[in-house]
Amino acid sequence: MTSAYSVADSSGFGLSEFDLIQRYFTRPAPNAILGVGDDAALLRVAEGMELAVSTDMLVSGTHFFPDADPFLLGHKTLAVNLSDLAAMGAVPRWATLALALPGADENWLRRFSEGFFALADEYGVDLVGGDTTRGPLNLSVTIMGEVPQGQALRRSGAEAGDDIWVSGTLGRAALGLAQLQGRIALPEDARLSCLAALHQPRPRVALGLALRGIANSAIDISDGLLADLGHILECSQAGAEIQFAAIPAIETHGIDDALFRHCVLSGGDDYELCFTASATKRGRVEAIAAELQLPLTRIGSISAGQGCTLRAADGRAMKPKESGYDHFA
Ligand code: ADP
Ligand code: MG
Repeated sequence: MTSAYSVADSSGFGLSEFDLIQRYFTRPAPNAILGVGDDAALLRVAEGMELAVSTDMLVSGTHFFPDADPFLLGHKTLAVNLSDLAAMGAVPRWATLALALPGADENWLRRFSEGFFALADEYGVDLVGGDTTRGPLNLSVTIMGEVPQGQALRRSGAEAGDDIWVSGTLGRAALGLAQLQGRIALPEDARLSCLAALHQPRPRVALGLALRGIANSAIDISDGLLADLGHILECSQAGAEIQFAAIPAIETHGIDDALFRHCVLSGGDDYELCFTASATKRGRVEAIAAELQLPLTRIGSISAGQGCTLRAADGRAMKPKESGYDHFA
């Protein structure tokens, strides 16, 4: 769409909008009937499958620093979207990319597209379309995937008695952000691990697929454990009890307790999965952890009540002040 609201030329880029899309965002799309270049892409969902669709947007200054490394941004823009499909147990297949760019910085575009396509190639995802416009830096992906009919992992399926599990470790991305903001000084090992979690989250796609038929509910942890588990509880009309000491986190020394607790319970951007499964499925879940070489940790259980009770090691109920990140709170 061209703009009638500005005196600039329609694209506003030194490089023509067409050349920009052609050079940086047009690749073969073997999963599609028709990819980039027409007014719409054409896709076909396989027989017996449902289409899973999700959109996530990254806004400069809200989700990343304006001078963030473009390769890592390309990775993260797609990774956060893959994470949503992982949480549904869907196989990612297609994506569209809507970009608002302050200008056509070719070095930035090259590195951004390299980061994006490196991850897309890893998961066999085709970029099949998008939109490119001039404006404050804003990166939005719509991801599409397939899941066998009736088998998607929903937020609403948790049942009283279910175990609550999380993948990986929690709080690393938030600790990495605190490090970048100069609020903490992590030791070398922890710093590298936390910054990697912040900049290059690994979407848990293989885990989501393995959990089909095993998990009763699932969500990806983008806004913090308490907030995202809270969504499962609301959607499932259930309660939960979790053991703080059981939550997997990295070893940190000399970090303020309250800040550490906040990062683990409410830190966003980890993109691990939180899921619930019947206690009869423990062996199956442990086998998945071994096969994927991904730690899966049982942190509590679903109850018939309401809300989440968090227990300290001595059994006392903790009252976390904070919940997760809310853009409008
Ligand atoms: P229209 O004017 O019909 O919206 P555009 O000129 O915006 O078409 O886009 C031309 C083609 O390029 C379309 O197929 C569109 O999906 C694709 N496209 C535009 N921007 C991007 C992008 N950032 N990444 C991938 N495909 C893009
Ligand atoms: Mg367009």
